[in-house]
Amino acid sequence: MTHKGQCFCGSVQLEAAGEPAAMGYCHCESCRSWSAGPVNAFTLWKPEAVRVTRGADNIVSYNKTPSSYRKWCKTCGGHLFTEHPAWGLTDVYAAVIPDFPYQAALHVNYQETTLRIHDGLPKQKDVPQEMGGSGVVLAE
Ligand SMILES: [Zn+2]
Ligand SMILES: [Zn+2]
Repeated sequence: MTHKGQCFCGSVQLEAAGEPAAMGYCHCESCRSWSAGPVNAFTLWKPEAVRVTRGADNIVSYNKTPSSYRKWCKTCGGHLFTEHPAWGLTDVYAAVIPDFPYQAALHVNYQETTLRIHDGLPKQKDVPQEMGGSGVVLAE
């Protein structure tokens, strides 16, 4: 099962294959600042599951820290995905792969939220313990 996606203008096209390792919403300041949106709906995949099928030379990258390499289309500025080398995972934004049946399992970095969401899902203070976080769950 592959899920097709593209940037805002369509110059860059990609596919994500199989099932993601995790899905949820990130409320961190970095996601907010870069996306210009209040939360980031993420889907985390093994890097080999994500394939750029068109326009790879149109992708530009920026890393403020070594933990996140953010990628976008240089023609339209549309965001595509973020590589997290330390986790061995690639975040393909849920909005970039619209036919993927996105189902959030949790919220992360909720201590930084500016938009509280009352959906009954766990609200991790930072990130789960298995990803190097505290594992502390906050109230909605
Ligand atoms: Zn584009
Ligand atoms: Zn974030």
